Amino acid sequence: MSVETKTIPGQIMTMPLTVTSIFRHGMRAHPEAQIVWRNSDMTIDRYSFADMGRRTQQLAHALTELGVGPGDRVATLAWNNNRHLELYYALACIGAICHTINPRLHPDQIAFIVNDAEDTHMFFDTTFAPLIDAVSGRCPTIKGWYSLTGPDQVPQMATPVSDYESLILGKPDVYDWPELDENAAMALCYTSGTTGNPKGVLYSHRGTVLHAMGVSGGEWLALTAREAVLPVVPMFHACAWGLPYACIMNGSKLVLPGPGMEPAPLQELMDNEEVTMISGVPTVWLGLYEYLDQRVERLKTVKRAMMGGSAAPLSLIEKIEKGHKTEVVHGWGMTELSPVGSLAMLKWGEDKLPIDEQLQIKTKQGRALYGVEMRIVNDDGDLLPHDGIAAGMLQVRGHWVASSYWGGVGVDAFTEDGWFSTGDVAAIDPKGFLRLTDRTKDVVKSGGEWISSIDLENIAMSHPDVLEAACIAAKHRKWDERPLIVAVKREGSDVSREDILALYDGQIAKWWTPDDVVFQAELPHTATGKVSKLHLREHYADYKLPTDT
Ligand code: ADP
Repeated sequence: MSVETKTIPGQIMTMPLTVTSIFRHGMRAHPEAQIVWRNSDMTIDRYSFADMGRRTQQLAHALTELGVGPGDRVATLAWNNNRHLELYYALACIGAICHTINPRLHPDQIAFIVNDAEDTHMFFDTTFAPLIDAVSGRCPTIKGWYSLTGPDQVPQMATPVSDYESLILGKPDVYDWPELDENAAMALCYTSGTTGNPKGVLYSHRGTVLHAMGVSGGEWLALTAREAVLPVVPMFHACAWGLPYACIMNGSKLVLPGPGMEPAPLQELMDNEEVTMISGVPTVWLGLYEYLDQRVERLKTVKRAMMGGSAAPLSLIEKIEKGHKTEVVHGWGMTELSPVGSLAMLKWGEDKLPIDEQLQIKTKQGRALYGVEMRIVNDDGDLLPHDGIAAGMLQVRGHWVASSYWGGVGVDAFTEDGWFSTGDVAAIDPKGFLRLTDRTKDVVKSGGEWISSIDLENIAMSHPDVLEAACIAAKHRKWDERPLIVAVKREGSDVSREDILALYDGQIAKWWTPDDVVFQAELPHTATGKVSKLHLREHYADYKLPTDT
């Protein structure tokens, strides 16, 4: 029976959910709130939301005069800083699209992405001037190159460039924003290609607003006008996890680290700006907290450390929660999810559990936010139970989940019944907690059975002298693949292969025990700071396991 014929329209306004509405609210409700940033020359500057608003409107005039209009893609190669933020808002609010590009990608990939998106203009921080010179000859759609500086700081370059400050100078600081369709595109971000060619995800106004509301809620990041947020996660990666929108929406102080991603400048900024929440990938926190421990120091004001992008190891969660008295918020997400899908917040009563049990819960990837639905399926597409045991392909759908990729590529990821296949393997328990065991491409298949690389990495990293560890599949004549641990020792430690293998005893099924452990001075990382298992697999492609006799 169709109920549609019986419904009548509600008598509530339908204001479009646009980034313009976030901008307007932020400027009206929190004009005095602060934005602080580190410039490319490492100096620190600040201004208010109201100042940001005026400059954003000047930029909107300048962009319009350049001919940038609705639907146009404008590229950025930039750090987390004020001008990047102004581009985020000015472009979205005039109906154009801010295409953030990851400068850690190879120049060939950058040229590919610019051409694929047919970007019309490019704005860049001076750090990336050599990169611009390397790609500018290959980007015929770009009509203008702009350095994110004033006229006196434009670097010497082969590419003819103009500067940002001259562009906006003298423009009116009020812009009559157009009324936009909430489903219009406003930002474009390519996946970093950890498991294949980069694919473009085209965010919409509506998805972005709902995502910002979704993550800021009390159950999740609890963003308020009394918080100061420092996203270490770059604005060129999945819109810095939506924080540039959520902070303006809530009046939270936004502290942008620019190129200062090393522990010392991060600590300086966090302490001086009284930052209360930080967000980044586990690798960044491994470095920061190791640095703090060596100096026997603590961050003065940080209450919560959000981490995601790859699995947060228990040893790191423990160090931050127990050693630094800072709450860890572990989350899961993807570029395709705007990007946050779930966060590991404790439920009623779980905060009274012994601390070690609480930390175990936080090693899981968390519970789906309102706005995201999750299911797991087997190879045949059959639904699997949410019993915490059955593991299958994770599929999602929701208000801020991609419905297709830019250019129509990657159609296989979208199911006929409207779900997105994440490429992750996971179990979901009856309380709704997601536990990722692998990415499909990283899973170790031993004799046809799956072994979770994430679980094995976590155990290796529980050794106090192991800084970082990755588990990859190594070839084995009898079992096809067996787990190999590649680990990085803490400086000066003499931890051995046997010490690490001994850790597995009694913690996992015996046949999951890794066949070998090798040490490296460091692990290769992808453009988004994840361990690059693709590189490790290539490097150890011919590795002979001691068990392969
Ligand atoms: P890329 O696909 O290039 O790595 P993304 O940042 O979009 O770029 O990566 C999303 C993937 O990162 C997820 O599909 C998942 O495999 C991994 N990931 C994200 N968060 C977590 C987490 N908390 N634990 C384990 N893996 C994670």
